[in-house]
Amino acid sequence: MERIDLRSDTVTQPTAPMLEAMMTAKVGDDVFSEDETVNNLEATAAKMFGMEAGLFCPSGTMTNQIAIKVHTQPGDEVICDELSHVYQYEGGGIAFNAGASVRLLKGNRGRITANQVEDAINPDDVHKPVSSLVVLENTSNRGGGSCYELADIQLIKQICLKNNLILHLDGARLFNALIAKGQTPLEYGQTFDSISICLSKGLGAPVGSVLLGTKEMIRKARRIRKVFGGGMRQAGIIAAAGLYALENHVERLSTDHEHAKLLEQALLANPKIESVLPVETNIVIFTLKQGITAAEYAAYLKTKGVLCFATGKQQIRFVTHLNITTKMVQQLCDMLKNA
Ligand SMILES: *Cc1c(COP(=O)(O)O)cnc(C)c1O
Repeated sequence: MERIDLRSDTVTQPTAPMLEAMMTAKVGDDVFSEDETVNNLEATAAKMFGMEAGLFCPSGTMTNQIAIKVHTQPGDEVICDELSHVYQYEGGGIAFNAGASVRLLKGNRGRITANQVEDAINPDDVHKPVSSLVVLENTSNRGGGSCYELADIQLIKQICLKNNLILHLDGARLFNALIAKGQTPLEYGQTFDSISICLSKGLGAPVGSVLLGTKEMIRKARRIRKVFGGGMRQAGIIAAAGLYALENHVERLSTDHEHAKLLEQALLANPKIESVLPVETNIVIFTLKQGITAAEYAAYLKTKGVLCFATGKQQIRFVTHLNITTKMVQQLCDMLKNA
């Protein structure tokens, strides 16, 4: 069986037409805002979401961290779900970069509610950190690719407006949510103060994320990006891949979602598997029965050419993406049903 790499949707290889777009990109010095391709990517993404401006950054971690830095003062508090990437996987950056503390909420597979947010807002009391920012994640990575209902996000937005809180979206996999739920980028642009989208996840570009917000916010963000060392020069080479991905790789995400559903069904038929988190997008998280650990099962799968991550003692994650073909999924399903 050929190698099937389900560790993450970050492992994708650029396609031939994507490489062609990169090779022929018009470039300039982006620290001088002179890279036509970067400018085009920023404007294209902003327009897509109906937001004023965009900023191309090297990673999703950087777009999130810049947003948090711009939106908070040292000593403020950021409200988010306990599974959030901004808390779990950004190296303590909220404290390190922004000097802010975090209020963690226990959501439902990474999704929090307006009531939870409202209850977590500190009163105007000198003892308390100032609650200033709410960060949502859609889809939720640790939540197994779960998606928000737009109505639930809008209720959170109302609480933010009422209490003078800013609302940021970690939309590393937002396009997966849009495709799965039939939502539009404009609906998100109208609701959030800032949005971070990743080009290097399901969209299949080799590098890059875009931060979206108002002109004023992005002006501040550009300064922070430079401070963080993220001001790149002829970045159009990689921005071209991002533009290509936005134009060509969004609709096809539904294929990744179908593949993930097939894997879910195969896993449910496997006697070693205790449970599978309901699959909504391209992430499949499952729990093994006692008697076999995730590390052991992942090592077994590796002998069969299947790569995945153990995300807990009994828990494994599969992520489908651009380089996972239907044939691979069928082979893997046949194998999973019996092993
Ligand atoms: C991958 C990811 C990011 C950003 O990660 P980078 O590897 O820094 O690009 C942010 N949020 C979520 C939910 C992610 O899955």
